[in-house]
Amino acid sequence: MPRPIFFLVAEDVPKLQALAQDLKRRYEADYRILEAASASTALTMLGDLANGEAEVALLIADERLHEMPAVDFLARAHALHPGAKRVLLIHRGDWSSSHPVVAARALGKIDYHLWAPWHPDRFLYSAVGECLAAWDKSREPPFAVVRIVGGAHSPQAHWLREVSSRAGLPYQFLEDDSEAGRQLLRDVGMENAPLPVVVYYDGKVLAGPSEADLIAGLGFPTSFDAGACDVLIVGAGPAGLAAAVYAASEGLTTVVLERVMFGGQAGTSPLIRNYPGFPHGLAGADLAVRVIEQAWLFGANMVLTEATKLTARGPDRVVRVADGSEITARAVVIATGVTWRRLGIGGLEALVGAGVYYGAVATEARAVEGQDVFVIGAGNSAGQTAIHLSKYAASVTMVVRGPSLRGSMSEYLVTEIGKTGNIVVSLSTEIIDGSGRDCLETLTLRHRQNGITEVVAASALFVMVGAEPHTQWLEDSVARDDEGFILTGQECSESHRWQLERPPRLLETSMPAVFAAGDVRRGSVKRVASAIGEGAIASQLLHEYLQTLLRRQGTRAEYLVEDLLEGVFGLCGHGCGSPGDEPVGSDQDGAGGCDAELWPGSRGEGAGVRDLVGAQR
Ligand SMILES: Cc1cc2nc3c(=O)[nH]c(=O)nc-3n(C[C@H](O)[C@H](O)[C@H](O)COP(=O)(O)OP(=O)(O)OC[C@H]3O[C@@H](n4cnc5c(N)ncnc54)[C@H](O)[C@@H]3O)c2cc1C
Repeated sequence: MPRPIFFLVAEDVPKLQALAQDLKRRYEADYRILEAASASTALTMLGDLANGEAEVALLIADERLHEMPAVDFLARAHALHPGAKRVLLIHRGDWSSSHPVVAARALGKIDYHLWAPWHPDRFLYSAVGECLAAWDKSREPPFAVVRIVGGAHSPQAHWLREVSSRAGLPYQFLEDDSEAGRQLLRDVGMENAPLPVVVYYDGKVLAGPSEADLIAGLGFPTSFDAGACDVLIVGAGPAGLAAAVYAASEGLTTVVLERVMFGGQAGTSPLIRNYPGFPHGLAGADLAVRVIEQAWLFGANMVLTEATKLTARGPDRVVRVADGSEITARAVVIATGVTWRRLGIGGLEALVGAGVYYGAVATEARAVEGQDVFVIGAGNSAGQTAIHLSKYAASVTMVVRGPSLRGSMSEYLVTEIGKTGNIVVSLSTEIIDGSGRDCLETLTLRHRQNGITEVVAASALFVMVGAEPHTQWLEDSVARDDEGFILTGQECSESHRWQLERPPRLLETSMPAVFAAGDVRRGSVKRVASAIGEGAIASQLLHEYLQTLLRRQGTRAEYLVEDLLEGVFGLCGHGCGSPGDEPVGSDQDGAGGCDAELWPGSRGEGAGVRDLVGAQR
């Protein structure tokens, strides 16, 4: 294969040559650097290249072109080389919001920008490296950790792809009836094995694996044998992982439980554009993989298993997991996130993973190339999904129940959708049915204003219609609202489930020492950055809580009864459902947090302990 190409265009010839020289110095072994001094020459050259074998990786255009605006040039060049990343070279000194790069980026007309003048080592190479990494990810991976052979519409194969994608594993999917798929099955002696077949890079092969088999193959522990820790975090999305980074970095023994794959919903997001510090956005899976590694390197124990029950037992908070074993902790963070609300339409539910997808956009986007697809929902996630899919699909129809997108979606997304030619927004419309033999083929739409129904051809439906929190496993252990979101802080006190005299801490649930963070918490913002922020705050709060306990142990003569007293908390439960709801007093002044935790200061220290012990008898 010929080397992929960087194509540069600038009318300022010395600048063009300087840029070409700096790029050649670093990249020439792997890439060809081609230059043109005008947009028209560049388009002619790019037209010729489009008929050949060479791939264009980067199209870099100086913003100062006279023949045509550089953004228009990039659009025409991109039509010839749709796989290339579009990069605008912009000049320092204009930070106004009317700079063309702002609109070009907002409308998805460029992918990246470079600054002129540049210093190669400090600015140019790191920025070009980022563009190249994004370009490389949009291609078939040259090296696959996992190769999956299965049916194009097999739900199991879909699940395997989703888990691999969320784990950040470079994977290759081969349809079982493709020549490459058949060849791989022959190579590993699995022609007649149940599908899907998974072939690992080290030669290990799984035929028709269960979820547990696949997870075991990834090398993550599925149990925590020590059984006890300082902090137990349930859920490894951004909130749980951030809590893990901060808790583990403070030296606390930290365990993170995750039932599907570390990274959470963020791991399925193709491009997070609003995460601070990443002006060009970053893929959710990339962020997830970095934070997973960071938590792991701080010593957090990452365990792939599902939490099924939470109780308070004496001073401990106890979480039961899928295999029936229990893990005890001094404090717990619940960061179990949400799941997208189901449509509940029988014909469509039967096709989940076979054309009907709940959120799994990153995995499926390339698969819908050239097809007519639908997105249902009117929130930001629906908007981002539609925009992302529009880069691959022939058409994207957004099905929206309400009369407008405004109100539920950020303005920048509404604008971008309006400007994207192949996105149609069907307002006041709902989906009432769908059909397909092996995969989705049709949808039935109902126009709410006139009641007219129509059946339309559809290759894929992406469902983004609101969220349900993952809290059923908590039963009545912590206070939740009518929709199942967890109450924390002030809202807990107002719910009458909080029974200590001291107020609950900011993210504390109705069960003391149990915190909630991220999407699962009532009133949360439902963004990656806020989930990470809440995870970090929860970690700080529980750290303070644990230090308070330690400090008291060091300063109180009565510390020997601490566990018993904590047991009173546990039995009172404040959500654990056990009898013995004796409220515990507080010093009420916010100072001396140790008293506020356990000691009924208003009733006198020793007396408080005795009262409580008596109350339990
Ligand atoms: C397609 C898509 C695009 C998005 N784009 C953006 C964006 O551009 N910008 C942005 O800011 N936000 C975006 N979001 C929203 C963002 O991803 C979420 O707000 C964020 O992931 C919430 O983090 P979390 O940690 O609270 O929950 P989650 O990310 O949902 O993680 C919760 C984790 O808990 C696990 N879990 C649940 N129950 C249990 C249990 N009982 N035991 C063990 N583990 C359990 C789940 O498997 C999951 O991994 C997007 C979401 C989606 C779906």
